[in-house]
Amino acid sequence: MYKRLFLLIVGTIQSGVARGYYGEADIMALHGWMAARLAGDDARIDAWYYCPHHPEHGEISDCDCRKPFPGMLLQAAAEHAIDLTSSWMVGDKDADIEAGIAAGCRPLLVRTGYGARHEAKVAQDVVVVDTLLAAAEYILANTQP
Ligand SMILES: [Zn+2]
Repeated sequence: MYKRLFLLIVGTIQSGVARGYYGEADIMALHGWMAARLAGDDARIDAWYYCPHHPEHGEISDCDCRKPFPGMLLQAAAEHAIDLTSSWMVGDKDADIEAGIAAGCRPLLVRTGYGARHEAKVAQDVVVVDTLLAAAEYILANTQP
């Protein structure tokens, strides 16, 4: 066993809710499925956040939780007593990186997903790695215990 250094919190944009493609119950079902898969590898997500809004669809068009706004990160910090300046925001889009910077986190872009296409959009001093595993290794190597 190892000592846990971090909470792992997921924050996603789920504008399909505002667009009527699926409901929030479907998001919960997906989170449950992911949690079960991760548990099989002895991994766990500590909290899940999502933005169900869209600027042009649904009832709320000007939320502060849709990345690049930092609302989800600020909510997670408030609900879990997180020091954002000691936290990392890992993402695959420039909006993820901007949300992390806006919240005071250290940003890290992964090249998987959209990451390779968004690499040129982020500041040159943003750490970029190939995979989520490489991100975890980088964070552990660059964190004071
Ligand atoms: Zn939102």
